[in-house]
Amino acid sequence: MNFFNSPVHSWYSLYKRDLPWRNTRNPYLIWLSEIILQQTRIDQGLAYYSRFADEFPTISALADASEDQILKLWQGLGYYSRARNLHFTAKFIQLNYNGIFPEDYDAIRSLKGIGEYTAAAIASISFNLEYPTVDGNVFRVLSRFFGIPEPIDTSTGKKIFNELAKELIIGTDPGMHNQAIMEFGALQCTPKNPDCNQCPLNQRCFAFLNQKIAELPVKQNKTKQRDRYFNYLVLSCNSHTWLRKRVGNDIWKNLFEFPIIETDNEISIEELITQTEFQKLVSIANQSVIKNVSDWKIHILSHQRIHYRFVRVQLTDEIHVTTDLIRVNKEDIFNFAVPKLLETYLNEYVKSV
Ligand code: SF4
Repeated sequence: MNFFNSPVHSWYSLYKRDLPWRNTRNPYLIWLSEIILQQTRIDQGLAYYSRFADEFPTISALADASEDQILKLWQGLGYYSRARNLHFTAKFIQLNYNGIFPEDYDAIRSLKGIGEYTAAAIASISFNLEYPTVDGNVFRVLSRFFGIPEPIDTSTGKKIFNELAKELIIGTDPGMHNQAIMEFGALQCTPKNPDCNQCPLNQRCFAFLNQKIAELPVKQNKTKQRDRYFNYLVLSCNSHTWLRKRVGNDIWKNLFEFPIIETDNEISIEELITQTEFQKLVSIANQSVIKNVSDWKIHILSHQRIHYRFVRVQLTDEIHVTTDLIRVNKEDIFNFAVPKLLETYLNEYVKSV
């Protein structure tokens, strides 16, 4: 497989980006960078990586932090289960491995929040083990170069790509090799309009030689998106509002938000205030006044489309607000970790109170 590996490795030594996690083999930092970079662009992830590495330079420091501290630092990155799992696993390593990252692939893979890809990244980069990382970039490069028509999102397709990647990594410097293919996919063999004329693989690339670049890789794409409708109630009395911590097995677990009334579609404000849930939150005797209603907006997650709007409810007396909410002074509102879609609104809210 040298006809593939050699040009990719040489290309990598010339063109790789200088990224902080490329200057270390420390498994904790490699793990941290891999978790931050899942579903995140490198330019955005860089700042978060630096903040986490500064604030929590070791597994023990991360294990000793509170979950609220970690979620607050994670705010804006999305997919918050990553942060919760990071914390859980740091505590687990602290307790079961004396704070030292396990060096065995199966032990790494069994840690919470560490899937096949992340385990392979840590095992190869930190411990020189021959486990291939197969991410979107690798699928693209391999499917184009070798002309593999199987969909990358089926179990058969995944198996074929994994087998090939396992063959390719044998006898290489595994950490460098994995990073080289991923970087090659990110910068050279890009999803759209790759510069094939400048590519060191173009003499033998199936997609280039057969004009199949736009068709490879193949995806079956069966993911269905679920629509949800969130009416955020922004209760306001003097300089106070009320938040709630999200619990249960759902998106944004343990983050804070304004109380939500979730409905089946975009209902009118008249329908909203007749909902039992609304009446439970704010007693009608309180003579609450709907002060302002924003337009509906959409926030896209990987499997959900969140339709949301903000309903400002001015209260004349806070005594009737249900007690399971947290009363917050507007000055303190930025201390709470909130989902990304609330961030911009919080600025508007604080200015308007
Ligand atoms: S020739 Fe084009 S399609 Fe083939 S590996 Fe290079 S950049 Fe990708």
